Amino acid sequence: MITLTDVDALRRRCDDARRDGHTVGLVPTMGKFHEGHRALMRAARADTDLVVVSLFVNPTQFGAGEDLAGYPRDPDGDAAVAAAEGVDVLFSPGVDAMYPDAPRTTVHVEGLTARLCGASRPTHFDGVATVVTKLFSIVGPCRAYFGRKDAQQLAVVRRLTTDLNLPVTVVGVPLVRDADGLARSSRNTYLTDQQRRAATVLSRALRDAADALHDGERDAATVVAAVAATIDAEPGVRLDYAELVDAATVEPAARVDGDQILAVAAHVGPARLIDNLGITTHDGAVETDLGVVVEEQLA
Ligand code: AMP
Repeated sequence: MITLTDVDALRRRCDDARRDGHTVGLVPTMGKFHEGHRALMRAARADTDLVVVSLFVNPTQFGAGEDLAGYPRDPDGDAAVAAAEGVDVLFSPGVDAMYPDAPRTTVHVEGLTARLCGASRPTHFDGVATVVTKLFSIVGPCRAYFGRKDAQQLAVVRRLTTDLNLPVTVVGVPLVRDADGLARSSRNTYLTDQQRRAATVLSRALRDAADALHDGERDAATVVAAVAATIDAEPGVRLDYAELVDAATVEPAARVDGDQILAVAAHVGPARLIDNLGITTHDGAVETDLGVVVEEQLA
């Protein structure tokens, strides 16, 4: 594995690979790798010849007063994980390399970014969309892997890729959970043991919702109210939102129908955590997707 910090060096490496007839896989991350990141790296490794993982804590996607300064960082541990997963290139630029001049260009995906996390983090998705567009521009034609844990982000990235005709195939990878149900997140390191136990209410509420859907419930308000009530009842957990939305447009839905996500966000201690249930209906039958559980703990 090589580590690159320079934008032009990464561009050249990817161009060279394609010139040799190789495919390129890109995994954008902010580091502090866990099993969720590893799942993306494995998917990229299985599908593509040159696997590039970017590790960049992107300042423009953090709002004022958010956790940019304290965001967990572990460059040496991350390099070891990436190497163990067979990653070819770890792209770890400094802020100056990515933003040499104060940027005057922003990629804004209208509508999809207004609800859910966009409502409480109004500048977040512009930062994500812009940095992802920059990475796609630097890496060039590739397959790019994103976790379904960040379902709204995945919708935003898919939409900007289509709208801007970017030569990138966006691949969604299943959400990875710990054995207690908590969705893996770099921000889980902020939680005490007690907060962590409380945080498992998110996945429990979503599992109950999945059961209700399989029992035939189709009314969005009923499903959402039950999820909200379960989360609200947990001491130390403050609900931000629970909503049923279309998976592609992020528009709210009145009925369970089509490709949707039941998305939740909540504050637990110093962390703001998100989780979701994927929902698909076919001819009245419902399929639900809570992702996969891993028990392996990273050292
Ligand atoms: P982050 O480093 O948190 O920005 O995440 C980088 C990528 O990893 C994003 O595409 C996330 O959706 C994905 N990711 C983070 N946590 C998980 C998880 N628990 N399961 C699946 N993908 C994840």
